[in-house]
Amino acid sequence: MKIRTRFAPSPTGKLHVGNLRTCLINYLFSKKLGGEFILRIDDTDLQRSKKEFEEAIISDMKWLGFQWNEIYWQSKNTEKYEKVKNLLIEKNRLYECYETQEELEIKRKLQLSSGKPPIYDRAALKLTQEQKENYKSQGRKPHYRFKIEGSKIAWKDMIKGDISFDVENISDPILIREDGTMTYMICSTVDDIDMEISHVIRGEDHVSNTAVQIQIFEALGASHPSFGHLSLVKAKDDKISKRIGGFEIESLREER
Ligand code: GLU
Repeated sequence: MKIRTRFAPSPTGKLHVGNLRTCLINYLFSKKLGGEFILRIDDTDLQRSKKEFEEAIISDMKWLGFQWNEIYWQSKNTEKYEKVKNLLIEKNRLYECYETQEELEIKRKLQLSSGKPPIYDRAALKLTQEQKENYKSQGRKPHYRFKIEGSKIAWKDMIKGDISFDVENISDPILIREDGTMTYMICSTVDDIDMEISHVIRGEDHVSNTAVQIQIFEALGASHPSFGHLSLVKAKDDKISKRIGGFEIESLREER
């Protein structure tokens, strides 16, 4: 099997020790096995992605001596995601929803206050064509959710061993926003298939995304890569993030 790993930063901030660790492990894993390492810029969130962050990430990676076999930008792949959207609709795995943020928030609060987990109730699956048209005529635009199926999603994690999720505990995720833009969940899966990624190694904050993505891989008729979820680098009590300063590679570089 061809070993291909990827590091997929979102250019919404600078490279910090947390994501650098993920990058390094992917890099070393592929190098050790004579494989390839790919850099993918996850820039579909147009509001938060910035060119200056992308340039800073690339410059830090070069400074650290990383070399990649290929580089991709998700923002250049929109046509491909559009095709996948249509395919999933045809397969009845993607459905239109018209709830507003406020309506969803009310549902969530009601569920929580009656002791239920805040799982999407799939009300949109029951909408008639007429009701949908009605919403459209009010100026509402649909967002789209992926329909999770089956009863369990399980995989052997490279790091954590056997992981399994009961499907009833997972909300059907939103893959396409009201403004037509695609979420990380779908773009990442489509790219991992296209880029022929063999191993996805990332932080354990992605474990539940993996469960969903395994179903998207299957719905698209693709076998999924091996997954490994790393524990997160923590700063005292909190996850390392852009909010906690001082861990950026750039600041380490400046200190030298
Ligand atoms: N852009 C995602 C992130 O930075 C990538 C996660 C993944 O590796 O799939 O969290």
